Amino acid sequence: MSQEERLEKVRGEAPEKRPTVSVLARSTTHGDCPCARVALATRTDLDKLVKGTHFEVDFGQDPQTFLRGQLFERRVKDKDYAALIQLLRENAGFAITDARIRNLKSNAAHNETGLKQRATETRQLLRKMVRGGDDAPNIVDGAVLTCTIAGRTAYFEADGLAAAAGGRIHVAEVKSFPLTDGRCDNGKLGAACEQAAWYVLLCRRELVELDLPVDAVSHEGLIILAKGLGLEPALVKYDLTNRIVRAEQLLDSARVDEDVLRAVGDVQFPSAEEDPQQRIEVLERMMDRVGTQYRPDCLEDCGAAKLCRARAQGAGLASVCGSSIARMLPGVRTLGRAAELASGGVPAPSERHAAAALRQANAVYERVSKGGAL
Ligand code: SF4
Repeated sequence: MSQEERLEKVRGEAPEKRPTVSVLARSTTHGDCPCARVALATRTDLDKLVKGTHFEVDFGQDPQTFLRGQLFERRVKDKDYAALIQLLRENAGFAITDARIRNLKSNAAHNETGLKQRATETRQLLRKMVRGGDDAPNIVDGAVLTCTIAGRTAYFEADGLAAAAGGRIHVAEVKSFPLTDGRCDNGKLGAACEQAAWYVLLCRRELVELDLPVDAVSHEGLIILAKGLGLEPALVKYDLTNRIVRAEQLLDSARVDEDVLRAVGDVQFPSAEEDPQQRIEVLERMMDRVGTQYRPDCLEDCGAAKLCRARAQGAGLASVCGSSIARMLPGVRTLGRAAELASGGVPAPSERHAAAALRQANAVYERVSKGGAL
């Protein structure tokens, strides 16, 4: 059986989640979780699998935020992308004298055939942009990029834009959250940069296949945000180098190693039609087989987060307290074990470092709780 067939068998009747750049961007933070990797490789929709159960999560976007996003995007692209061109000229040093814009969404069907057609056009345009011909576009909207995830070709509809000057391509992400006095929500900005980094990586992979130099796609992302609470666009540049490296590592790990597939054995993800209790039991069986890596930030974007949190709390894992606490307890898996070490339990070699710190902290705590000085 080919790997593709094996992965399809693992997904079984579970609902499918088509990978998008934002799905990939979110996966970057969970690259160390085998269960999340299996879900990504098999394209299993974990959000839908927990729907109707006690562990359902809601990542739905607030309708007002959604509306603001649409209005802002229209503002940036209105009048043949006039606002974008002005930003590129004034803030990114682009010498766009004659704008040559290609909107690949305008003529393509909204189905798989349309995606494939746009992917072919994107490749042709990338080649032209890097070679810098007279007919090369300098702004591309609606690009579709491809890459192989776990042996299967996936099509990614980039929601960002590509802007080129002098044969160098820059990725631009349009986000409507506010930039006030040069500051904005760091979490949202990080997510926007993560998406832009994936866009850069996928463009670069296309260039490798076209035998063109990868550094034709800049590591610097252009993030377009709204000035204050209005809709006037502003542009900020970010170095995406580290994020691109992380994205590349995730893409490599999304191959799903033979040992993970072996661990899965004959377990399949459950069907969304199954009874909720049954669904959770099967999902837990999968988690037990392959392993998970729960952290509180799973709650921000993984469909299985509430289930994993309950399991981690039940097992008393140190990771429920957050990554910073877990980092302070190297080699110590549970909070119960941390308590044992703090009160003088004999540490295993891998626990020695944490045990010394815990004993010291415990001594200070004992002294203070008995009314002594620090
Ligand atoms: S919520 Fe669970 S499955 Fe999802 S990334 Fe976290 S540990 Fe992995």
